[in-house]
Amino acid sequence: MSFMKIDLHNHSYYSDGFLSPSEVVLLAKKEGCDVFSLTDHDTTDGLIEAQQQADKLDLKLIHGVEISAMWSNMTIHILGLGIDINNETLQKGLKQHQEFRQLRAEKMARGLGGAGVFGALEKVKLVAKKGMITRTHFAQMLVQEGVCKDMRSVFKRFLTGKKPGGVGGKWAEYDEVIGWIHAAGGKAVLAHPLRYRMTNTKVRRLLNHLSGADLDGVEVVTGSSSSDEITLVSQWAKEFDLLSSIGSDYHGWPNQRVRIGHLQDMPQVNEMVWKDSSWLN
Ligand code: AMP
Ligand code: MN
Ligand code: MN
Ligand code: MN
Repeated sequence: MSFMKIDLHNHSYYSDGFLSPSEVVLLAKKEGCDVFSLTDHDTTDGLIEAQQQADKLDLKLIHGVEISAMWSNMTIHILGLGIDINNETLQKGLKQHQEFRQLRAEKMARGLGGAGVFGALEKVKLVAKKGMITRTHFAQMLVQEGVCKDMRSVFKRFLTGKKPGGVGGKWAEYDEVIGWIHAAGGKAVLAHPLRYRMTNTKVRRLLNHLSGADLDGVEVVTGSSSSDEITLVSQWAKEFDLLSSIGSDYHGWPNQRVRIGHLQDMPQVNEMVWKDSSWLN
């Protein structure tokens, strides 16, 4: 099925993407996607609008979500793909994360106030169109305000570790998050395994722990992967008996380069995350 164009990791303005769900789906269609997933951070609220647009355009939409989770005191991202968005266990978990985001945003704004950036909460709310506040919104706001020149420097100067806007994550533990996804009938997939600032040894330990907790798959191809990285993660997928997934992690901000549906080929040596599903029908 390699002739199909599949992109299973994308954001809308229901979390930290720039475009509306309809606009993201329309763009995916224009870029030639056959199968597509909207995976906003800790919310499924954009999927209703996305589904309406996908129906109009006759594009196959896989219902998805990207859930923040703790592993060994670090934040990781686990995608839930093919989920039932009406599942109560999943929605209860997501609600907990949405409440934490609200509290965290208030703390971050206070921290930024201490560093001389005033009115951060009010300003960031204007950037976060649907009310879910992420660090991406803080970053965009600080660039707009001229405090930093680009996203990368904001994260470095303000939004991580002990920096003024750095707030420790207290998301649910990874095994609990995998449980929510499975309760909703979805596949749990570790997102962008090489973006966690961990050594490869540590990422292998992460994959080992997660596959012991019933993780289904790992993202082998992402929008920023090099071919060496794809080969490496593909080997890990085999080693830990995980299905492979593919997704651009498109956010659509004017200053970001990743494009929807523009992905390198998936190595044919792995089993795909859509195996045993009706996603390609
Ligand atoms: P949050 O879930 O609110 O902590 O925000 C995390 C989001 O910030 C990620 O999903 C990325 O979209 C974005 N992000 C994290 N680190 C960086 C970075 N160094 N540069 C640009 N964006 C980043
Ligand atoms: Mn994001
Ligand atoms: Mn992510
Ligand atoms: Mn993402």
